[in-house]
Amino acid sequence: MGSISQPQGPLPPGTEACQGCGEVRLTRIRMSLPDGRAATFVSCPACEITNWFALDGDGTPLTRGEVTGTG
Ligand SMILES: [Zn+2]
Repeated sequence: MGSISQPQGPLPPGTEACQGCGEVRLTRIRMSLPDGRAATFVSCPACEITNWFALDGDGTPLTRGEVTGTG
């Protein structure tokens, strides 16, 4: 087990640990937002919280509107 596909290096703000339970072994998936910004989708395997964070954000989770482009 040496090649788990987790992003390496510094993590985007807000994705270091689960905001619900503090779990740090999160599933992180790089995505693009409708407005073209890069974001990371975070899913917690412990409490099943999911959140989106912009790579250039301040650690505040994105709203559903920002993620879907409908907000
Ligand atoms: Zn959690």
